[in-house]
Amino acid sequence: MKIVFANSAWVSPAERLILRGGSWQSVRLRVRYGLILHPTAGPVLVDTGYTPEALTGEGRSRMLRLYGAVLRPELNAAEQVVPVLKRFGLAPGDIGTVIVTHFHADHMSGLSLFPNARFIASDAAWARVKARTPRQNLRHGVFAELFPADFEARLDSLSSKWRIEPSGGVPGGADLFGDGSVIAVDLPGHADGQFGLLFGGLERPLLYAVDAQWLLAAIADDRSPGFPATLIAEDIAAIDATSTTLRRFLATGGQVMLCHDPQVTQYDLTAADLAAGAG
Ligand SMILES: [Zn+2]
Repeated sequence: MKIVFANSAWVSPAERLILRGGSWQSVRLRVRYGLILHPTAGPVLVDTGYTPEALTGEGRSRMLRLYGAVLRPELNAAEQVVPVLKRFGLAPGDIGTVIVTHFHADHMSGLSLFPNARFIASDAAWARVKARTPRQNLRHGVFAELFPADFEARLDSLSSKWRIEPSGGVPGGADLFGDGSVIAVDLPGHADGQFGLLFGGLERPLLYAVDAQWLLAAIADDRSPGFPATLIAEDIAAIDATSTTLRRFLATGGQVMLCHDPQVTQYDLTAADLAAGAG
């Protein structure tokens, strides 16, 4: 099973905002999404990254325009999801599954690009999205306009998956493909229904912890940011509990990877991969 991550965009907040005791200098963060070449499920996307649908789409609502204007992400054209798939000899129609870790725009704005995909996501969080008014969803960082119209018909519910128990510092979760290769681990705090992915079959187990924090240092050194980062958190108390779970996993020898941490990992596509045709 091959796992790669690409960088869809950069955002550059002051370090202070995302790391307790950080400086006022800005940090250039990545906005990753992943591609898993799974032996039975085929090509599987882990989120879609930021795509033009969120940032430059003609039909965007006023709030989505405002969101783009505040965060000012720079799209990385070379590593947008469609050109990256092409490097692997894949077209959008080949994607049978998109794992949607949570419903923030920088993770799901490209869902409508994949006409044949089923969406593995938290059905509990989706039920709450449907129950809220558009304004309430905005307060949770959710832009309902970014969901494909047939999202629910294509939803492959997280709650329908077999649960695996935690053991020895390694968190448990939902077995997404029924073979233990990809376990969805609940990561409460940042966003409603957020989960990460545990790849336990690797030589060094990997936990893709998505947006549990922005920077790895906030987990490893216990430097969770305070106000104003806490303003946009779904559940402030749960963020620290989730960071503790991740620190325990690091202590077992596991590797934690985040969506936004700037440090390049062995799973990130390199410029050489892209030039050579990464397949
Ligand atoms: Zn998020």
